[in-house]
Amino acid sequence: MQVPFNRPLVIGTEQENVLDAISSGHTSANGKYTQLCSTMLEGMGYQKALLTTSCTSALEMAALLLDIGPGDEIIIPSYAFVTTANAFATKGATIVFADSLTDHPNVDSAEVERLVTPKTKAIVALHYGGVSCDMGVIIQTAEKHGIAVIEDNAQGIGSKYLSKPLGSIGDFGAVSFHDSKNVHCGEGGAIFVNRKNRNERADVVWDKGTNRKAFQNGKVNQYGWVDLGSSYYPSELNAAFLAAQLKELEKVNSERKNLWDKYHSKLESLEKQGVLKRPNVPGYATHNAHIYYLETKNKAERDNLIEWLKKQGIGSAFHFQSLHKSPYFKNQYNGPQLPNSDRFSDTLVRLPLYFDLGEKQELVIEKVLAYYQQ
Ligand SMILES: *Cc1c(COP(=O)(O)O)cnc(C)c1O
Repeated sequence: MQVPFNRPLVIGTEQENVLDAISSGHTSANGKYTQLCSTMLEGMGYQKALLTTSCTSALEMAALLLDIGPGDEIIIPSYAFVTTANAFATKGATIVFADSLTDHPNVDSAEVERLVTPKTKAIVALHYGGVSCDMGVIIQTAEKHGIAVIEDNAQGIGSKYLSKPLGSIGDFGAVSFHDSKNVHCGEGGAIFVNRKNRNERADVVWDKGTNRKAFQNGKVNQYGWVDLGSSYYPSELNAAFLAAQLKELEKVNSERKNLWDKYHSKLESLEKQGVLKRPNVPGYATHNAHIYYLETKNKAERDNLIEWLKKQGIGSAFHFQSLHKSPYFKNQYNGPQLPNSDRFSDTLVRLPLYFDLGEKQELVIEKVLAYYQQ
């Protein structure tokens, strides 16, 4: 039996929606499915949601809306995806890397406070595996110094910090609908605009820097170039596909949570034996079971485990590699060591976790246990 590391979600109603979009004659952006997705997202507790072509483009849009440019410092966890940093680096900003917590890949919020300088313009909080960062501390730091917060919630649709959906807390949130995420449309994303006073400009930036929305609403006689912007929106074909999946989000996340919980209880014995660590979820976080990972003792053991599982037909994967040590950045990095980020780069391994994993999970559990009994 083969157990792939990931299988993109297929709900079954995607085709119907996509065919409907085609026969409607409206396949470019901002038709009924784009509106439907925005409405569904806003119904989850977001003040304003705009679909984008990716989480990356949502982060870039946030950078543009915050007028980020040369001379601005942006605090970003080093244990992050490439575009978490690139969205700001491409604007000429100075990237200031922060370490992860000792017991979680999420950024150490106390360290964020220490990294703030008069040039700090924004903090990027990445909710790893859909598990919330300590947003209480991060928001407090941001308010104290008058700086913006952007949540890279690429992985966390359906997750919460206390009672608030992730991505709704900072100035902006970004989510991914890439096919590796809980729900998707191949490639896609959304930006959450969380302060009402930014709504109007967000509509303009989203629509190529034009005031087309004001024109469509009859507020101006013609539309034109009024600000910076780009083409951030997906086509109706993507939105139609996404609408089918978003509708089933609760069902999908609850099945994933069952699988997550099962890994967690069945692998507890290994943590008790002291051979590995299981994920730690803080009390303020309700998560969407995006990732189940283990933390091995060292890199050699992590790599061996991945190889061994592969021989048993099971896909598993390491994850982010510290960005401050990346080929692009390492020569410009002059900050301190970031040992926790490096440790998660070396020792974290993700197990298969997807909606239709089903009984195959038993085999994964059996083989992980067997690896440590050899
Ligand atoms: C997947 C992911 C992204 C990128 O998402 P895209 O939609 O592919 O641009 C960004 N940040 C994190 C944390 C991710 O996991």
